[in-house]
Amino acid sequence: MTQTKAAEKIILPTPFAVGDVNVFLIEGEKLTLIDAGVKTKEAKNALESQLNERGYTISDIDQVILTHHHSDHCGLVDLFEGKELLGHEDGQRYLVRNDEFMDWQREYFTGMSRKMGVPKEYMKYANNVESMYTYSGSKPLTGFLKEGDKIPGHEDWSVMETFGHSQGHLSFYHEETGSLIGGDLLLGRISPNPILEPPKKKGDSRFKPQLQLNESLKRIEKEKLNIVYPGHGDNITAVRSLIEKRLRMQHERAMHVKELIGDGQSTILELAVQLFPKAIKRDPALALFETLGQLDYLESIQKVEKQDAEGVLYYRVTTHE
Ligand SMILES: [Zn+2]
Repeated sequence: MTQTKAAEKIILPTPFAVGDVNVFLIEGEKLTLIDAGVKTKEAKNALESQLNERGYTISDIDQVILTHHHSDHCGLVDLFEGKELLGHEDGQRYLVRNDEFMDWQREYFTGMSRKMGVPKEYMKYANNVESMYTYSGSKPLTGFLKEGDKIPGHEDWSVMETFGHSQGHLSFYHEETGSLIGGDLLLGRISPNPILEPPKKKGDSRFKPQLQLNESLKRIEKEKLNIVYPGHGDNITAVRSLIEKRLRMQHERAMHVKELIGDGQSTILELAVQLFPKAIKRDPALALFETLGQLDYLESIQKVEKQDAEGVLYYRVTTHE
């Protein structure tokens, strides 16, 4: 077995508020790129020049492996024609984007808009689904990875399912060195958005991404972790204290939501406007998903309950202690 060298970080620009995205090169039996930036000329040029600095070109990459299907991580996959593209099966529909899936997203988020008390025109996930994929690649996955698999060509890197920020989100763990390529599971500067995705099949129950994200954080906390290579920002070495901080801040934010509800009842939109007065105008969907995440959490610890009144959800506090 060829020993894999440490993951090498390549930093690519994005047009998004989050700033640059990190992708990683792993050298071993194969030359592997983890994640692939956004589909822009700037990102492509930056990838090419940073590969060149290491003596490689795009065509030297044997395989690309995705942490998740968001466009800042999968944008340039089309450059790797004829190469393996691996990721979790849940991400496939976001790369293939057939009519059925595009319609399902419109239908699902139109329904969710109503439940959240939001006029549909504020929900781009419902009324302008195509715009979500401007910077995404469209090469389908050639193979799937799941929990417990090894990265092909790098038997010392194992695959962990760390869902939450997205469905099918994967992290890659190198046990010997205690290193984790964590995608957007754990970021130094911000807490990742618990982005709501449509169920895999119509009629399936709604995902609860904030609860999934918390479980994923608690799960990696059990492993030996010396360093996390995140999808955005600097490497994280104080891993455990950051995980604890993320979980604590999420709990505190949820408790704040409970206070906002007070003795009355609130829709998701009403709470999102109070929690995120600026973000609700800039990116209503993200503000709403973040709010919904807090409510899912409060429901899971029996602090709030919801009622459906003519298709709109109203939350009230169950206990005041
Ligand atoms: Zn993401």
